[in-house]
Amino acid sequence: MIHYDQIVVGGGFGGMTTLHKLREKGYNVHGFERGSDFGGVWHHNRYPGARVDSETPVYQLWLKEVLSDFIFTQRFPDWKELQRYFKYAGQKLKLYDYFTMNTEVTSSHWNDEENLWYVSTQSNLTGDEQQFTCNHLVLCIGFAAKKTYPDLKGRDSFKGTSFHTADWPWEGIDVKGKKVAVIGTGASGVQVIQSISKEVGELVVFQRTPNLVLPMQSQEANISKQKERKEAYHQIFNDSIPSSFSGFEFEPDTRWGKDCTPEEIKEKFDECWNNGGFRFWLGNFSDIMVDKSTNRAAWDYWKEKSSVRVKDPRKRKILVPDEPPHYIFTKRPCLETTYFESYNRDNVDIVDININSITEVTENGLVTKDGSSYEFDIIIYATGFDAITGGFYQMDLKGKNGITISEAWENGTYTYLGMGISQFPNLYFLYGPQGPTAFCNGPTCALIQGVWISELIDFTTKHGFKYNTPSLEAQNTWKKYIQDNANLTLLPYTRSWYMGANREGNKPRECLLYVRGVGNYYKDINKESDSGYPNFIFVK
Ligand code: NAP
Repeated sequence: MIHYDQIVVGGGFGGMTTLHKLREKGYNVHGFERGSDFGGVWHHNRYPGARVDSETPVYQLWLKEVLSDFIFTQRFPDWKELQRYFKYAGQKLKLYDYFTMNTEVTSSHWNDEENLWYVSTQSNLTGDEQQFTCNHLVLCIGFAAKKTYPDLKGRDSFKGTSFHTADWPWEGIDVKGKKVAVIGTGASGVQVIQSISKEVGELVVFQRTPNLVLPMQSQEANISKQKERKEAYHQIFNDSIPSSFSGFEFEPDTRWGKDCTPEEIKEKFDECWNNGGFRFWLGNFSDIMVDKSTNRAAWDYWKEKSSVRVKDPRKRKILVPDEPPHYIFTKRPCLETTYFESYNRDNVDIVDININSITEVTENGLVTKDGSSYEFDIIIYATGFDAITGGFYQMDLKGKNGITISEAWENGTYTYLGMGISQFPNLYFLYGPQGPTAFCNGPTCALIQGVWISELIDFTTKHGFKYNTPSLEAQNTWKKYIQDNANLTLLPYTRSWYMGANREGNKPRECLLYVRGVGNYYKDINKESDSGYPNFIFVK
């Protein structure tokens, strides 16, 4: 059986960063990726219009080796440009030699006698199974590793073509002139809808919750800024991350909206809106997700800007309702260019499935509660993921004394620093539960957590410890800290994947994210490492 010092699962930003950092330290590390190439979510997100909502230049690996020669041509790169980038980065960092692609990790069991992880894999190409051992296991599986479909009667009976947005066929799908259904209006649904609406014969969108989308505005990449940033890499990292809220190159306004005059509020809102991207959310007043009156002002502004774009009053009421469906930004917004205009086309309609739910999938299409039946050639499930924790449950993870992750998290999610779990020795994860994750630019999180984890592994190894594990007390304290801080915001009011509450099932409703911002998170984790890991148990 082949043994590695560490195994890294996942070849997106997190896996690439962590594996690279461990190699730099001289370890015999290996990675497994279920896709056929690097990219993580960007390997699987290849539906029409798939494009990242984080802008260049911050949306790239912040590793000096790959900062010199790749220039993005789009401000918000599309999936094709991102796949080109990942290929480039994999080659430049020489990571292809250390990753096995097309390989799913099917189980990971900690062996208490040998103090090793036993990791089983299966090839997606041949079905061949293999087993490996390693001292340390790093899960870089992202927060969207487990797709979800609606639990609909007859879902398999549909005779046309149907698939999830994360499984868009590599060869593409000809939607020209076809009758198409899109179920779900998260980031994936919005992007698909605005992209295919001109091509399809008919499009019916089945919406559960309106997406409070934000304008992307200019798509022009700032080439000179990218070049400048490349030269100033170390300064940017050292200066900006410790004080950053979300890892972007803009910060929330330090003022609270509730203390500002209507004129000041309008000025700020206009500035954020017109500059586009996530500024209206993450570059807005500091109390936007805390204070109900500031949040309401943002909703009123959003509604005024959005409602004028939808001509048909019936469609408008579904897309831009009179009253907010939830506090704005307590569900993740996404960026759009022509989303609302898509509904001004005669071939595009929308059904509010909150009122008129889908009751059945038939051979030919969908039936709704009011008895209407719709015929389709293609049904697209843009229904998202068992987000943040879902991926942990699909790899048969067992820690000390064979404890499963379902047992460990039976009463809610418990981690320490959003990077480890107390009964799972030498196990680490990044971009997951109780870290900044969905509130952080992905590559920024990958860097700060990847570096921190590689340092802890190095500390454990160099001191001759067989394993480390965070203490149970530290884990309980971290959970309370996460929840107490989330309870200061408006997040808990909303049924969202931030709260583990976007799907049927018995996942406890609790905030799964660190809400105090990247800078505070960076300070919190470095306090632990700088003081010699006082909240970890190390075993010789
Ligand atoms: P999502 O945000 O979870 O959206 C899923 C959509 O499906 C929601 O509208 C949801 O309605 C609906 N839905 C879920 N279950 C349903 C059911 N049983 N019946 C009917 N409708 C149902 O998923 P996503 O759009 O794939 O995006 C996931 C995350 O991935 C994003 O938030 C983002 O972080 C990332 N992403 C980013 C980009 C980008 O950067 N541009 C692109 C794609 C994805 P409810 O809202 O009512 O739950």
